[in-house]
Amino acid sequence: MQDIMAAHQEKKPEERKHKSTQNHTRTSQVQWGRAWEVDWFSLASILFLLMFAPLIVYYFIMSCDQYQCSLIDPVIDLLTEKKHLSDIWNKTPMLTYRAAGIYTLWVAFQVVLYVFIPDFCHKFIPGYVGGVQEGAVTPVGVVNKYEINGLQAWIITHVLWFANAYYFHWFSPTIIFDNWIPLLWCANILGYAVSTFAMIKSYFFPTNAKDCKFTGNFFYDYMMGIEFNPRIGKWFDFKLFFNGRPGIVAWTLINLSYAAKQQELYGEVTNSMILVNVLQGIYVLDFFWNEAWYLKTIDICHDHFGWYLGWGDCVWLPYLYTLQGLYLVYHPVQLCAANAIGILILGMIGYYIFRMTNHQKDLFRRTNGNCKIWGKKPEYIECSYMSVDGTKYYSKLLTSGFWGWARHFNYTGDLMGSLAYCLACGFQHILPYFYVFYMTILLIHRCIRDEHRCFSKYGKDWKRYTAAVPYRLLPGVF
Ligand code: NDP
Repeated sequence: MQDIMAAHQEKKPEERKHKSTQNHTRTSQVQWGRAWEVDWFSLASILFLLMFAPLIVYYFIMSCDQYQCSLIDPVIDLLTEKKHLSDIWNKTPMLTYRAAGIYTLWVAFQVVLYVFIPDFCHKFIPGYVGGVQEGAVTPVGVVNKYEINGLQAWIITHVLWFANAYYFHWFSPTIIFDNWIPLLWCANILGYAVSTFAMIKSYFFPTNAKDCKFTGNFFYDYMMGIEFNPRIGKWFDFKLFFNGRPGIVAWTLINLSYAAKQQELYGEVTNSMILVNVLQGIYVLDFFWNEAWYLKTIDICHDHFGWYLGWGDCVWLPYLYTLQGLYLVYHPVQLCAANAIGILILGMIGYYIFRMTNHQKDLFRRTNGNCKIWGKKPEYIECSYMSVDGTKYYSKLLTSGFWGWARHFNYTGDLMGSLAYCLACGFQHILPYFYVFYMTILLIHRCIRDEHRCFSKYGKDWKRYTAAVPYRLLPGVF
């Protein structure tokens, strides 16, 4: 889809599409968006997640709060009847007015930054793509416009954070850590509210009725979403807002709050905490620097907006992606110089692979193959697909550079970076390693569903591509 978007930007529509009158292709093109039918495995997974994902988040955060981040001790206490569920629950901090106030202010502030402050960063930061950008072609052939101002929102938020920490002192920099569980309830309220609202909206006032998908299964529709790109007004796009902010803007603030807590408790910030802050900070900054590119990732191009994205962005992401920093508040690990450097190198190599792989595809698609990958003309496979109205589009699949090594080498780099964050926490507990386990499952599952979608979209052309690049993540292994 990227090349299609690039073609839009280059204003050469005749190069990218030809009307087709072939009816048989219409049947196949309808399949390349989200599934219309729910198989039993998907349904079982969805029910499992709807029931257990909130409990998993609670369990991890409670383990840190009450058991010094041990995942085993609560189970042992319950099995040996040393404690009952009610004991654990009674010790759990409840929702407070203070947390509700902080959270409301936080989300409202991010909404204001998103909706009311058009991007000015692209006007003075060379190479940064911000302002109004076009998304990819949706299955019904719509191209949405987005206001890309995430980097600006991130910068303003962090400038204010540091101004407060070092100058104004309106609130303590440990505010997030100090209210972490009460804030969890607020995040859940928002996550459920926005998912439920998105579902109701899709029935009564969808933004684009043609891009809605009703499977007929309530749970599947609630979880995976019905509307493709729900919006309020012209610019408030649910997917872009909830995916990026408040969750990802908060990510670095949460880590900073953990670092401040270490300082308060132990009088110093450990090198492992600095490593986690730096490596995850680079990942977050990369996300906002490339927010326009992000419009072409699966989250925006393929996923509909439901509980998976709505609740996931409000709760799962800020709470579970930041477990390393939380862990380090309870277990301040000071790494020896060799280990710290080794972890830094692993994280940076992972980041380099992640960024370069994504960059190669973006460059290739943006220039329609008129570029150099590793100093040579790119190799690729020509392919075509149809949108709902029967328009035939042409596309290309890159088979050189990192894309010649494996079909998702960007995921491999991401996983190396994820492992680095976890290693910074040492080997005393399993909790900080949840992230790399989770990312491995997420990205392998993503690989499979993306390839299923690409096969539905490109048909035999996709088969030619998988024959040319036979491995998914690791050449010669998988
Ligand atoms: P990709 O950026 O790999 O995009 C996949 C799409 O790219 C395919 O659907 C296809 O779309 C196109 N494509 C596939 N192969 C080729 C090729 N050889 N040449 C050109 N185009 C191709 O995947 P994601 O959107 O999942 O991920 C983007 C990044 O975000 C990744 O680096 C990933 O690691 C990261 N990520 C991080 C997550 C986190 O929670 N931290 C979660 C998910 C992703 P088309 O229809 O255009 O052909």
